[in-house]
Amino acid sequence: MADARRFNFSSGPATMPETVLAQLRDELWSIGGTGIGIGEHSHRSATFDRVLHEAVHAVRTVSGLGDGWEILFLQGGATMHFSLLPMNFLGEGRSAAFIDTGTWTTKAIPEARRHGAVAVVWSGERHGWDRVPGHSEIPPCTKHAYLHYCANNTIEGTQFAGPPEVDVPLICDSSSDLFSRRYDFRNHSVVFASAQKNIGLSGNVLMLVRGDFLSTARGDLSPMLSYREHAKAGSRLNTPNTLGIRAIGLCCRWILDTGGLAAMESRNESKAALLYDAIETSGGFYRGCAHAASRSRMNITFRLPNDALEAAFIEEASQQDLDGLAGHRSFGGVRASIYNAMPIAGCEALASFMRQFARLRG
Ligand code: PMP
Repeated sequence: MADARRFNFSSGPATMPETVLAQLRDELWSIGGTGIGIGEHSHRSATFDRVLHEAVHAVRTVSGLGDGWEILFLQGGATMHFSLLPMNFLGEGRSAAFIDTGTWTTKAIPEARRHGAVAVVWSGERHGWDRVPGHSEIPPCTKHAYLHYCANNTIEGTQFAGPPEVDVPLICDSSSDLFSRRYDFRNHSVVFASAQKNIGLSGNVLMLVRGDFLSTARGDLSPMLSYREHAKAGSRLNTPNTLGIRAIGLCCRWILDTGGLAAMESRNESKAALLYDAIETSGGFYRGCAHAASRSRMNITFRLPNDALEAAFIEEASQQDLDGLAGHRSFGGVRASIYNAMPIAGCEALASFMRQFARLRG
């Protein structure tokens, strides 16, 4: 008998859809009646050809992006792509613009500086990363090779409502909100995401890149560092993470089977509303970290009146099968990560625990 599952609010690796887990469990043993598991089939086999084809098809369907976009399954986490993106797209004498909204853009900036100049066109540092900029706060960026931003700030709990309106190629780190809502990627050149939050397992990166932008990438890099080479080889330049690609394919299929992005967005909005409501009606006992207009629907960050109460909250929640609520070690507080696969019941249970805790300790 398998262990009972707990509600897991971890920021990633994070909760997976249960139907996907069950299918992966079966396919680890034998996929498609072959008598060989997904982790055992050759990456050049007909079985894996089908897995890859299905994954590309599911991603293309969910994203709604046409054939002008390459879909790449890569490795190294989003972190490696903080280095590879400027290596590929920032030539001699060129500059990259960044909107700095927290930890994950702050980490990407020095990697771009290794390859060219960087202009930080907006930074949230002086207000403690509590919001993202409005459209009017972002200057024209036309002289730069691209503008890099992070759609959802996993640690700080802030999120863009829509893409920045600039006339320059956009690169979006969507690691913690890809396919959690409808979002206009048409004016982007690159969208990349670590898979372990909304769409799969850790170590895998999904990259959507426009073909015309890809053709501007440097052509003289070692093949494993070159997006053009990965695209030419159809994500099989070397042995890819076959299980990870299957997981992404199944998660995207699950999104489609449960109503697509519109339905996902509406469920995610309802889930976040349950928790923000528990914060707002607590009479100041819980304090949200983000400004209302910038609040994330994926990572709900808040504080309690003191560190001791925060520690007690996290400990007592865990005893009630509400796990993984500690804020990031650099940021503190409480963080509830409620990605696509977190059921509404998990948010209801947490909201009810929050009310009970505030009543007893407030
Ligand atoms: N960007 C964002 C927005 C993230 O949330 C994370 C991981 N939490 C990363 C990048 C880094 O991902 P990885 O650890 O897979 O390299």
